[in-house]
Amino acid sequence: GEREVVAPAGPAESSNAQLADKALNAKVEALLKQMTLEEKIGQTVQYSAGFATGPAASKLSYAELTERGAIGSMLNVIGAEETNRYQHIAMEKSRLHIPLLFGHDVIHGEHTIFPVPLGLAASWDPRLIEGVAHTSAIEARADGLAWVFSPMVDISRDARWGRIVESAGEDPYLGSTIARGWVKGYQQGDLSKPDSVAASVKHFAAYGAAIAGRDYNAVDMSDITLRQVYLPPYHAAVEAGVATVMTSFNSINGMPATADHYTLTDILRKEWDFDGFVVSDWGAVAELLNHAIGPDGTTVARKAIEAGTDMDMEGNLYATTLAAQIRSGEIPESVLDEAVRRILRVKFALGLFDHPYTPVTSPYQPSAANREQARSVADETIVLLKNDAIEGHGALLPLAKSAKTVALIGPLADSPKDMLGSWSALGDPKFAVSLRQALQERLGDKLLYAKGCGVLSGKDELVLEHASFTGGTQETAANEAIPDDSKTIAEAVETAKKADVAILALGESADWMTGEASSRAHLGLPGHQEQLLEAVAATGKPVILVLFTGRPSVIPWAAAHVPAIVEAWFPGIEGGHAVADVLFGDVNPSGKLPAGFPRAEGQEPLYYAQMPTGRPAARVDLSHMPTDPAEKFVSRYIDEENSAQFPFGWGLSYTRFSYSKPTVNKSEVALDDLAPRREPAITVGVDVKNTGSVAGSEVVQLYIRQMYGSVEQPLRELKGFERVTLAPGEEKHVTFPLGFNELSFYNVKSQQVVEPTTYKVFVGGSSLATQETSFDVR
Ligand code: BGC
Repeated sequence: GEREVVAPAGPAESSNAQLADKALNAKVEALLKQMTLEEKIGQTVQYSAGFATGPAASKLSYAELTERGAIGSMLNVIGAEETNRYQHIAMEKSRLHIPLLFGHDVIHGEHTIFPVPLGLAASWDPRLIEGVAHTSAIEARADGLAWVFSPMVDISRDARWGRIVESAGEDPYLGSTIARGWVKGYQQGDLSKPDSVAASVKHFAAYGAAIAGRDYNAVDMSDITLRQVYLPPYHAAVEAGVATVMTSFNSINGMPATADHYTLTDILRKEWDFDGFVVSDWGAVAELLNHAIGPDGTTVARKAIEAGTDMDMEGNLYATTLAAQIRSGEIPESVLDEAVRRILRVKFALGLFDHPYTPVTSPYQPSAANREQARSVADETIVLLKNDAIEGHGALLPLAKSAKTVALIGPLADSPKDMLGSWSALGDPKFAVSLRQALQERLGDKLLYAKGCGVLSGKDELVLEHASFTGGTQETAANEAIPDDSKTIAEAVETAKKADVAILALGESADWMTGEASSRAHLGLPGHQEQLLEAVAATGKPVILVLFTGRPSVIPWAAAHVPAIVEAWFPGIEGGHAVADVLFGDVNPSGKLPAGFPRAEGQEPLYYAQMPTGRPAARVDLSHMPTDPAEKFVSRYIDEENSAQFPFGWGLSYTRFSYSKPTVNKSEVALDDLAPRREPAITVGVDVKNTGSVAGSEVVQLYIRQMYGSVEQPLRELKGFERVTLAPGEEKHVTFPLGFNELSFYNVKSQQVVEPTTYKVFVGGSSLATQETSFDVR
């Protein structure tokens, strides 16, 4: 067989020492012994305020259900007064005084809304994410919430999938680093702290790989891909101590995730030693009926709890079917006991038994400090995609401070609600700053404005029907379509003619076009926005395109013809200010794409970590081949390039960075020195210098390629990055450790191994990094 070093079975230590604590578990056992069957089931039941599922089925109100101990958790009960009201019933009127656990979708802020998670990932800055999560935790606790349904860490390699906006993008290494940042920030290493909340890593597992990017669709993948690409961020969250895991809606290789023993028990419990609890996604236990893995609710509920789903969110099947099955012996009571133990552990660890209530405070007002944080966070998430020189001028951006007349055009220029992005919790649009407002503050009457068109046109009937369904009643300035926009587009062109430069604020609307159930088959600018862009560009005025989107877009015309393009994502309450900071050079942009932009939808799923083929299309050296594949028979499209329009890791700056050739501390390393749990044996070093005239931050990225092995490996994989800030002329030496964690892969036996091979190492400012070195493992 192969020579190899193999990861040991099982983790080195428990994933969360607090949940494994002996004294805590003794309290759990003592309580469990006192519980009736109904009270135990109650702990596994979660209902959402506003839906009345439980009350409708039982004819009891939530208050009465709580009093009977028939509810363990609620979601969407928000605010100290409301949560206290139910908590008083649980603590004072229920027989065993077990506190309720209140959860909520706090995804990128509770009141202080930060950029959407995909934007946050563009910062490549785990400390920044930690800070966002900490502020979110503080605000959530003040609203009576001890549990947030975040982080979402689903690897997303297909921009058609609307939930890519909630993710950290396409890469497992970046995604894992960011996942750890979220968990640390939310949980503060101690769930009992008043400024921490329990996090929930979701959606387990592989939700982002829905076939064809269509939300909720089936997932079908090899165990190698599952383990090497999709599982690492969930695992990272578990290793960081995450208290809960949420299942996903999809099936994996034919088994719905919510009833999948393999991922929920074999991997999560046995391999990773996860001690917290698993909550289903919304209604996902009941949806097992639609997946048709059983004839009735009784059967599918049994499958879900036996697979390892401990809590039923809004499915109402644990509440209604478990008792009879346990009494008849169909389900061993020990299965239920284990689920209840896991839930109670988290409640004890959170300190809810001792501190069940939340002080009522005055209505939320964003503090200056939180606004400042939201702005500096957004500053780091903006990605400068393109910045060409224009005639008689250097690069178009940044705009001179003594700017002349600026025409701001487009449906997203002045839509505060859309700045918040999807899943914006209690974010109030009245606290959100649009780009128009921010530019107005800077330019006064030198700012001209025209909306031009809506995000959608009145003719997009299918989109309007589907999108407005998912977005509910969300009316925003951007969503409002103008029935006949040819006139308003013509007006926008006239506005541009009066200005020296035109800024086009285009993209998607936040809730209608991104997030859950918002998959798109077309990734260009929606509605008539492309027409608007081309008409304004035809005036000959220099054009800056600012994209407000929750995913990579397909913008070949803009990429070829518009001199400056800025990706702003949905940048949060301080979004307008942050974009203006970048446009005027008060902030030097430093974001890098967490997911590449395709040239055409037909390339999806497109990602940089492509596998080799026997017939490579890239201009690669084929001199080792005994015969050349005929030029024609290569892995490519006849009508499009293989490469991304803007690749993973891409992002420009107002300064330039140079990279030295990287060095390795040894050119040869013994296989045994790369064994698991040893100090990294290899160190890669590189000198990075700011060769321009302004200070700037660069995300230095390291990619490896394993040149051969028992199974094929991607042509490039990110295995290290560091954000460095450099003054003009300044140089820094950056080092990256490489050991088992970075160099291992999964073999055909699903073992994590390192084999003797050669590694190439590439270092640079994007996944196109060109400076390279190599080392051998012997
Ligand atoms: C989503 C989850 C979310 C849950 C609770 C579901 O529809 O998939 O991400 O946490 O609802 O609101």
